[in-house]
Amino acid sequence: MSPIIMATLTVFTRLVSIRGTYAKLLGLPHPLLVKCDGFVYGRSVMAYMCTDQSYMYDLLVIGGGSGGLAAAKEAVGLNAKVAVLDYVTPSPIGTTWGLGGTCINVGCIPKKLMHQAALLGEAVHEATKFGWQLPDPKTVKIDWEALTTAVQNHIKSVNWVTRVELRTKKIEYINALGHFKDAHTIVGVTKKGEEKILTAKNILIAVGGRPKYPDIPGALEYGISSDDIFSLNRAPGKTLLIGAGYIGLECAGFLNGLGYDATIMVRSIVLRGFDQQMVNLIVKEMEHRGVHFIYQAKPKKIAKQEDGRLLVDWVDKDGQIHQDVYDTVLFAIGRRALIEDLKPENAGLKIVPETNKIDAINEQTNVPNIYAVGDVLHKRPELTPVAINAGKLLARRLFGNSTEQMDYTNVATTVFTPLEYGCVGLSEEEAIMLHGEEEIEIYHAYYKPTEFFIPQKQVDHCYVKVIALRNGDERVLGMHFVGPNAGEVIQGFAVAIKCGLTIPKLKSTVGIHPTVAEEFTRIFITKRSGLDPSPQSCCS
Ligand code: FAD
Ligand code: NAP
Repeated sequence: MSPIIMATLTVFTRLVSIRGTYAKLLGLPHPLLVKCDGFVYGRSVMAYMCTDQSYMYDLLVIGGGSGGLAAAKEAVGLNAKVAVLDYVTPSPIGTTWGLGGTCINVGCIPKKLMHQAALLGEAVHEATKFGWQLPDPKTVKIDWEALTTAVQNHIKSVNWVTRVELRTKKIEYINALGHFKDAHTIVGVTKKGEEKILTAKNILIAVGGRPKYPDIPGALEYGISSDDIFSLNRAPGKTLLIGAGYIGLECAGFLNGLGYDATIMVRSIVLRGFDQQMVNLIVKEMEHRGVHFIYQAKPKKIAKQEDGRLLVDWVDKDGQIHQDVYDTVLFAIGRRALIEDLKPENAGLKIVPETNKIDAINEQTNVPNIYAVGDVLHKRPELTPVAINAGKLLARRLFGNSTEQMDYTNVATTVFTPLEYGCVGLSEEEAIMLHGEEEIEIYHAYYKPTEFFIPQKQVDHCYVKVIALRNGDERVLGMHFVGPNAGEVIQGFAVAIKCGLTIPKLKSTVGIHPTVAEEFTRIFITKRSGLDPSPQSCCS
């Protein structure tokens, strides 16, 4: 750019900046300024200076899931020229789906709908105790085909709305599998094998992951994963779920709730990384509801019998081989990030060998114009809101004036089993490791949800735990809740923790009666005291 043009643009930018100062004083968003490459320019100037004319897009997003779509929508709102590439490779049994990524198609949403279906089944059985006149609840059965059709119809409507939204916002959607040609060039390969060459100033990797399969005979031929269960074209029947993480527990929970025999095969411990006292409560509750657990076991072989059922061999910790027959075997042994398809070496992108994921500082990879968000990131929680927040904040930093970084600490989560376990902050084990046993105080209580009384539901595992610093301001470090609607309960307390919740503040909070969330405001027994944490009376 010639010095004369540059000087003219600078004077223009200064003038625009004065207008912006007034806007700032009035608390309005800046009317004419945008940030680009760390500098502030007038919007019209940016169109010339910042959108490098040699690239087709300001931002090219690979992966139209939670993180990628959030970043794309935010960026386009900040005047960036954006395209999104999304492509779903069929699962080993051929399941595929539309735009929107894991959460919408084969994750959070269908899972929550099936969780709800299981809860409704439970409610049908309880309803007669409340006076509802129904046919004998034992005769009430789930129609698997009707359930999957309803779930898939909802998903298709979300796919459609997502496509319309991209079109309306003028985000270019390209249905192609992308890989790097170089740090600014992506090759998109369509279903028909056509290649599209796309160039961008910034590239965002938001490709997420897919279920892992173990390397044992029959796994790929006869096993399924969470990619298939929500659209399975036959009732699952007696199901073996291999893996005791979120997905194994949640799928076993809703299958059992829907009336199918469900067994979880645990390799080491259940829900690694979670507070193990809480996990034990969840396991006991699941067992009470009829879920079976096989501990310290690894699958060895799956074979198809003549009757079409699956014969599974597994080995226990002593090396003994066991066998049983199932209608369905579902692998929930973790997810692999979709890195290889990207050909990261072509862009000089570094991958962490142990996890095969991308290590990014503030979502920026080792290649300065390439960013990553969501499940593909090394040592970050694999959760939808994490991907969405990181994507949005990144777009604001790239194309707005923001400097706000993603905060990955104190992210709340819930396991829907279907009695829920929700938590935020540190587990008891982590708190002891970080602060020492003498420096923390643990409050706890069992409680009885009011709605459990009439149907005489099991209350033994409804429990709350608050972990706090023992001295100083008694800051709350972690909150754990097993009970109905734990996700809804913990979400509010997650905000409180972000605001620096302390034990005195929690105790002085007036509860909402009669709710389960109020149990957190009633805590007074510490583990150290040795007092009995059995349920208090309803209204004392
Ligand atoms: P994704 O949403 O996976 O999107 C990535 C997209 O990129 C996909 O569409 C993929 O096909 C596409 N893609 C991959 N490679 C390429 C390529 N080379 N070119 C073009 N496109 C490509 N999280 C929660 O917070 N709450 C829950 O209750 C919850 N439940 C879950 C239940 C299950 C069964 C599963 C599997 C996950 C669940 N999760 C839940 C996790 C959540 O779904 C993920 O954390 C989230 O979807 C990650 O978003 P992402 O943007 O990183 O990737
Ligand atoms: P995960 O939580 O990482 O659990 C994987 C489980 O499989 C572990 O129990 C692990 O045991 C076991 N395992 C690993 N390899 C195995 C093998 N070869 N044979 C037998 N068992 C094996 O993974 P996931 O359940 O697949 O879930 C993936 C991610 O999705 C989660 O991390 C979570 O963030 C997200 N998700 C979230 C929600 C939610 O928010 N409610 C729901 C579902 C999924 P070890 O402990 O021995 O390694």
